[in-house]
Amino acid sequence: MFVDKAKIYIKAGDGGDGCVSFHREKYVAAGGPDGGDGGRGGDIVFVVNTAMTNLIEFRAKRKFVAPKGADGSSRNCSGRNAEPVIIKVPRGTVIKDADSGRILADMSGIEPVVVARGGKGGRGNAHFATSTRQIPKFAKPGFRGDEYNVILELKLLADVGLVGFPNVGKSTLISVISAARPKIANYHFTTLTPVLGVVKVDDDYSYVVADIPGLIEGASEGVGLGHEFLRHVERCRLIVHVVDVSGIEGRDPVSDFEIINKELENFSEELAAAPQIVAANKSDMATKEQLDAFRSYIESKGLLFFEISAATTAGTKELAIAVGEELRSLPPIKEFEAQPLTVDELREKLITNRDFEVTVEDGVYFVEAAWLWDILRAVNVDSYDSLLYFQKVLRDTGVIDKLEEMGINEGDVVSIFDFEFEYVR
Ligand code: GDP
Ligand code: MG
Repeated sequence: MFVDKAKIYIKAGDGGDGCVSFHREKYVAAGGPDGGDGGRGGDIVFVVNTAMTNLIEFRAKRKFVAPKGADGSSRNCSGRNAEPVIIKVPRGTVIKDADSGRILADMSGIEPVVVARGGKGGRGNAHFATSTRQIPKFAKPGFRGDEYNVILELKLLADVGLVGFPNVGKSTLISVISAARPKIANYHFTTLTPVLGVVKVDDDYSYVVADIPGLIEGASEGVGLGHEFLRHVERCRLIVHVVDVSGIEGRDPVSDFEIINKELENFSEELAAAPQIVAANKSDMATKEQLDAFRSYIESKGLLFFEISAATTAGTKELAIAVGEELRSLPPIKEFEAQPLTVDELREKLITNRDFEVTVEDGVYFVEAAWLWDILRAVNVDSYDSLLYFQKVLRDTGVIDKLEEMGINEGDVVSIFDFEFEYVR
């Protein structure tokens, strides 16, 4: 079975806890605090494994949890950072946050990508010693590691996508222009697995063609087979639209052509706007009238038209060369950009849940709330504008009021996860 979509759960490791400890040594009185920091939790890292062709492995294993960082210990010993968990995926896998739908990574390159970051270790008490607070009896727990339900979607990397109704001859065509050998049979839906073939134009120029299962009417609405496979054409630079011009199955080439284009459009505007070349196949079975009528219809749309017979190979070489020529002037295979949380999504989080907790320990005000973690990660604390925004968030959500209610004084330290600042009225 060809599996090109999977949903899995990933959780990066939490940071190790900071340690509370005081230096003890014979003959040394009143040793200072020496509790070390916790180690970082393990990341969840994705890497491409070119030997993998589908996502079937994720049917069996759906949960990936990285270990927690080690806790800090006395004598200022920091806890060890945890090892990452590495998840191998086929090239072209797009990773999306299942909740928001935003793209977290596109695994089309060879670089490993950290998709969920391990939490930082909590600070040990040694860190909280100041001239006025010499015996800090507290340390902080480690920070949470990132956690996501993610959708993995394989979007094959091909220059050209073959689209068309079932049985029009797509698999036959790829088998004559490349070394790929997909199943060919005279019944619908023979191709259940996309097949990639390399077309060699000459010694130093080749391109990759994807034969995807045939589209049927209503495919983009999930009526039948097809839309599941359109994602494999999404990255393509050029579409070769294969049409059975002979009408041997009682079909009309013009309406077939229009139905498929409608399907592409329903799936994505971008896909519908992709450059197209039309291959009128089964010309060996077609009359001159059929061929001429279809040719003038396609040419009136300003599209390149090729008469071919995949069965006899007539015209296929010319088509393959013309496709190669077109590709030279087209942009490279599409890669998807990771999408950060938008301001709207952050705002949404603020509206739906603004609970927080403030605790005071030795004059340090610790503010904790899950939503603040997301905001803090999106805010660049080195930028003045971001800081102003952050301040406004603290004011609007009542955090500042709460601090004042608890009696915070000018110069006291406010600690929000790993960000600390002195309170100024
Ligand atoms: P696909 O479903 O689009 O991949 O179509 P296939 O490549 O599996 O072909 C479907 C049927 O059409 C098979 O029986 C092929 O042998 C036949 N076929 C493909 N191309 C041609 C052609 O150019 N002429 C004729 N007469 N038959 C063809
Ligand atoms: Mg086929």
